[in-house]
Amino acid sequence: MTVMDIFKTMEYGPAPEAAEAGLDWIKAHQPFGLFINGKWKKPASGQYMESVNPGSGKALARVAAANSADVDAAVTVARKAFTSWGKLPGHARARYLYALARGIQKHARLLAVLESLDNGKPIRETRDIDIPLVARHFYYHAGWAQLMESELAGYAPVGVVGQIIPWNFPLLMLAWKIAPALAMGNTVVLKPARYTSLSALKFAEIVHEAGFPAGVVNIVTGEASAVGEALVNHPDVNKIAFTGSTEVGRNIRRATAGSGKKLSLELGGKSPFVVFDDADLDSVVEGVVDAIWFNQGQVCCAGSRLLVQENVAVRLFAKLRARMEHLRVGKPLDKAIDIGAIVSPGQLKEIQRLVDQGVQEGATLWQPSWACPTEGYFFPPTLFTNVSPATTIAQVEIFGPVLVAMTFRTPAEAVELANNTRYGLAASVWSENINLALDIAPKIKAGSVWVNCTNLFDASSGFGGYRESGFGREGGKEGLFEYVKPAWERDAALAQDPSSSDGHQPGAVTAETAPEEADEEILVDDGLPAIDRTPKLYIGGKQARPDSGYSRGVYGPQKRLIGQVGEGNRKDIRNAVEAAHKASGWAVGTAHNRAQILYYIAENLAVREQEFARRISEQTGRVSRDAQAEVQVAISRLFSYAAWTDKYEGVVHRPPLRGAVLALPEPMGVIGMACPDEYPLLGFISLVAPAIAMGNTVVAIPSQQAPLSATDCYQVLETSDVPAGVINIVTGERDVLSKVLAEHDDVEAMWYFGSREGGKLVELASAGNMKRTWVSYGHPRNWLAREQGEGQEFLREATQVKNIWIPYGE
Ligand code: NDP
Repeated sequence: MTVMDIFKTMEYGPAPEAAEAGLDWIKAHQPFGLFINGKWKKPASGQYMESVNPGSGKALARVAAANSADVDAAVTVARKAFTSWGKLPGHARARYLYALARGIQKHARLLAVLESLDNGKPIRETRDIDIPLVARHFYYHAGWAQLMESELAGYAPVGVVGQIIPWNFPLLMLAWKIAPALAMGNTVVLKPARYTSLSALKFAEIVHEAGFPAGVVNIVTGEASAVGEALVNHPDVNKIAFTGSTEVGRNIRRATAGSGKKLSLELGGKSPFVVFDDADLDSVVEGVVDAIWFNQGQVCCAGSRLLVQENVAVRLFAKLRARMEHLRVGKPLDKAIDIGAIVSPGQLKEIQRLVDQGVQEGATLWQPSWACPTEGYFFPPTLFTNVSPATTIAQVEIFGPVLVAMTFRTPAEAVELANNTRYGLAASVWSENINLALDIAPKIKAGSVWVNCTNLFDASSGFGGYRESGFGREGGKEGLFEYVKPAWERDAALAQDPSSSDGHQPGAVTAETAPEEADEEILVDDGLPAIDRTPKLYIGGKQARPDSGYSRGVYGPQKRLIGQVGEGNRKDIRNAVEAAHKASGWAVGTAHNRAQILYYIAENLAVREQEFARRISEQTGRVSRDAQAEVQVAISRLFSYAAWTDKYEGVVHRPPLRGAVLALPEPMGVIGMACPDEYPLLGFISLVAPAIAMGNTVVAIPSQQAPLSATDCYQVLETSDVPAGVINIVTGERDVLSKVLAEHDDVEAMWYFGSREGGKLVELASAGNMKRTWVSYGHPRNWLAREQGEGQEFLREATQVKNIWIPYGE
């Protein structure tokens, strides 16, 4: 081809990146071992797996296939390393993380080449997006390590963390997991995805070069069934962090239920890309390219559902087809291609299957006229129009370069369509009208919302899902809390078992924190029959008879019947959840108004302080001084959350772009809560107050043993202007009712303060809609102590952070 020909056709020539450096590195190292205790180790099984280059379909490397014995060895050394790593000053850990960031930059090109070879991503993306973001993540978290002592005072690392990552962003997901874990003083055992282990193994070399203490970072390659499951089930792992499919996430939720392991899950998505008729359509087209053809569409937050205002749909589709015709699918190491290879033949087949299904479902398929390379695993960019919202392709995560388009007429319809998914990972909103865009962004149920942009990531801004996209955040300050626990939990566990290096048992009560034993006379029991005051349930702002028609007795310490409460059942819980949903307007009211109502509850409680104290004594046998203290702390706690209501506000991040990211804590929605038995009033107030302060509505199961303190609150609530349905109270058997709440698909979070078995039950039952859970595993708190009974830990559980990205400038 002559220069003149090139000028005539304006065809790109190939611009290949040299593969030699990557291939030489592979040759020099294979077969790859496991990185355990700072050394390379042969797998116990003696088995190896083949890693394939998706761009050619040819074998690339042999990687160790570990088994549970290797996982055990890695966890053991990680535990040992934790004893000293967790105690290093923040500055020392910051130095190590800084060294990792520098190491990544020094090996950036090799990492980029390895990632493209192993995963099939275009080198342009690995070189300009993945690897720079990885380095940034380590720099950013070096900063948090440095600041931990001052900015996370009162928090301690969780211990040994098991991390399981997918193949779509192998090194970036590793960074998202390892950087915050190490910064907060944990040690890690990480399992890469079986298709893409190489960049993690190069990272292990960088860890070694950085002079890390042995055992702090361990990389164990292998199959899900051998390594992944062993890690999830290992009794000495304190936390699992997982990114991958919702199905596997659900299995992990079930497998870890009741184990006491902390869990964060970053799962699938079917993210809406919403285009209003006043959007700049040319920018929209480029946005769509980034949304769904970045990384071949194998992106958990890919904008895979294009929702377009009807009057511009035809125009936008025409522009999009024209752009698709010019996209270039080709060899991942060619710098002039837009779309690389699909990671494996299995994934390719799955994409094709779903595309065929889309055609069968009656949608209109469009693909460019050119053909993909035949060697390797490639799929062309694909557009479906005439898609009905209920069809498979509109609902399931295709995880390939396939866009499904639907239309809407009004902004309300756009929101409805956007939220018509079981997922909630991300969304983007396109409009030149900032008022409209900022009105729509908070209405979409998703962890990240990009305004006039898409697929932007930065270490400073948390990322994670709503609904079945999982829970927990990665990045930002909020992401750090996935890797710490309140220091008092660790201290309590250490006091119980000084040999435990990690404080694995949360929430144990120590002699110091335990409530005083009764040593004074009890206030009540005049020997006369109690005046009958059988409270009903409290649903939708009214007292409601229990559906069962049964009551349950409440007995005082001398086994004397002191009252009866309704025996709530499944139907009562359903009614309460419905009432809580109807009260969702609570969340959109002002924080000032919510604060006023919390103050009002405190005021009305204070008027009846003596009566409430007496009731506590009557039910628990605790002395009057103690009971009075409980009421006083409950009043103070209501004040605390009234104060927090308009002060727990989120932050503005300044990532490296012209613009800002608003990190807004949003209410979870409806929170189910089983209150602790101890401190019947304070336990109830300590859970309900932060939840409603943040705009949630609640269905509370009061103390099973001593429910009367909560039922006595009915009148307080009625006289405090709490809107109907914001607080619903169902008395009865805690575990039976908790299970119903945990299984309920319209309950967004479940808090459980009861037995270990009950905690397990709740975690298992929550896997249905992947609701976030917070359970105590039978370890009581000292609710009187501010450190344990109130504060930001509660507010964080009551909210999920939405990051709204707003670039600016012409
Ligand atoms: P998986 O969820 O199966 O894999 C993710 C990671 O989990 C891998 O490291 C995998 O190991 C490991 N794993 C799998 N099963 C278990 C288990 N039971 N216990 C512990 N670890 C386990 O995703 P796939 O790779 O199979 O992809 C399937 C689909 O998942 C995709 O088509 C896509 O829809 C979705 N997906 C979503 C991602 C996201 O970021 N949201 C990322 C990847 C996939 P191994 O690699 O050895 O199997």
